[in-house]
Amino acid sequence: MNRNESQRTIVICADCGSICAGNVTPDGTVRSIGRPDGCDCGSREFVLPTDSSVG
Ligand SMILES: [Zn+2]
Repeated sequence: MNRNESQRTIVICADCGSICAGNVTPDGTVRSIGRPDGCDCGSREFVLPTDSSVG
């Protein structure tokens, strides 16, 4: 595991909750790979899924 490289993960649109492929950089920046121009809803902010958001 190289801490200097982004880690591939699943990300969720912060606005509508749409799920797509993404990555997170070592400093915690979340980016989407599947939607590089932003979500279909117009949001460009993506977050990591958390257990507390389920349910
Ligand atoms: Zn969205």
